[in-house]
Amino acid sequence: MPDIAIIGGGVAGLAAAFTAANEGASVTLYEAAPFLGGRGACGPQGDAGRHLVTTAYTAFLRLLENLGSRDALQLQPLSLGVLAGHRRLWWHLCHPVFGGSAAGIQFMASPMISLPQRIPAAISLVHALSTAPREPAPDDLIDANGSRGFATTGERSLPDLFRQTRRPGTLQRRLGLVSARSMCNLPGEEVAADVFLTALWRIIDDKQKLAGWARGDLAGLLTAPAPAALEKAGIRLRMPEPVVSVRRTRCGWNLKTPNGNDNYDIVICTLPPWSLRPLEQIGELAPLLQAAGEMESRRIVTLRAHYQRVETLPGPLGEEEGEQGVWFSESQPDGSFRVEYVLSGLDSTELIDKEALLKKFHARAQSLLHAEGRIGAPDVRNYPRATVSLKPGVKRPRLFQTRGFYYAGEWSATGLPCTLEAASLAGETAGRAAALAEVICS
Ligand SMILES: Cc1cc2nc3c(=O)[nH]c(=O)nc-3n(C[C@H](O)[C@H](O)[C@H](O)COP(=O)(O)OP(=O)(O)OC[C@H]3O[C@@H](n4cnc5c(N)ncnc54)[C@H](O)[C@@H]3O)c2cc1C
Repeated sequence: MPDIAIIGGGVAGLAAAFTAANEGASVTLYEAAPFLGGRGACGPQGDAGRHLVTTAYTAFLRLLENLGSRDALQLQPLSLGVLAGHRRLWWHLCHPVFGGSAAGIQFMASPMISLPQRIPAAISLVHALSTAPREPAPDDLIDANGSRGFATTGERSLPDLFRQTRRPGTLQRRLGLVSARSMCNLPGEEVAADVFLTALWRIIDDKQKLAGWARGDLAGLLTAPAPAALEKAGIRLRMPEPVVSVRRTRCGWNLKTPNGNDNYDIVICTLPPWSLRPLEQIGELAPLLQAAGEMESRRIVTLRAHYQRVETLPGPLGEEEGEQGVWFSESQPDGSFRVEYVLSGLDSTELIDKEALLKKFHARAQSLLHAEGRIGAPDVRNYPRATVSLKPGVKRPRLFQTRGFYYAGEWSATGLPCTLEAASLAGETAGRAAALAEVICS
């Protein structure tokens, strides 16, 4: 079995490591930071904010199983948020009696939809809820020659795709845009349509239909159990140890770190576009590096503060008008509340007026929550490269094997938006392909 090096101990790297080790390969994982989990982690140097996790995240849930933390994940029945004017409407996708049809029934009764639109919109919604997802199976992502390429995703616009599938305008505008915002951290029209619809269908087709926000939880679910779980699976962990260069050798690959050099048969690289420097030596990776240069990154900004005497309002509290923000309140052990306002999908080059934002945050939090007596200074967390985004016309990179080299980050073309699930699926696919690959000389 091959001797595999995995670069990056984020979600993709962890998924690749467990998959390859379960197939019997010898695996070494290199992580530059002093904690595992990458952008999904809450380590001593990183607090990645809230993460939406759903039961449609099958590959991510398999990773949690490998980490022994699956049962600790608490999720609620899934609803789909639809924005109409200043109001947010929740479609309950998990009705105990009507199941998926419940959303269609609610849609028909909604005063927000004009009378002539109601029936076609409801039929279309029920149809969408019952249509099998077009998600590529892991085998489709690996071609007959032994995992030479992930499938590429389409670049048709979302409105085109909705027209093609005969979704009425009401559904397109309300369901499409809002889902695109919440699932892709992007305005709908910028999302590669197949990626968006695959993700939407995956959620709709999900049998359990549970979802929830994990923030501090991810530290316990992902970061904390990882070192012991890797050891138990026989995976060697090199952490903190950044890979500074990768070079081809006669039979495989040489990885250089500040601690020395090591040789491997196969390398799986899971680095995000902005961390690909160690690969610059490798001529065949030019298309990957070019695609990385064409990707955009999106920012997430979280405003937090503690308040005393706040009404208990669990879950999302409302939507700030005109902004892509979600309010959260969370009770603390001392009886106070932590209030959060999360803005996601902002362009990483966008300038943010922090003072104005904070003023708005306090005013809105106090009126919305009837809060009094702020404790401590509000805290603004800025994640400038939270998610990778796609522009129409820019292809997500294919995973290619240049004799034993696999690329598998969250932004490789899995047919899903750049999420924990895309990272897990990409990692699993590359891990399986690498473990089953033929070793040229050993
Ligand atoms: C604030 C925030 C909110 C988010 N919200 C959601 C959400 O609600 N739902 C969702 O599904 N997704 C969400 N995401 C996206 C999700 O976190 C990412 O898609 C996923 O974690 C990416 O995993 P990855 O393994 O591909 O990349 P990364 O997590 O970036 O992993 C790469 C790893 O490589 C390491 N590394 C870098 N350079 C080197 C080197 N030279 N040598 C060795 N190691 C190196 C890094 O330290 C890192 O650990 C959010 C992200 C952020 C930041």
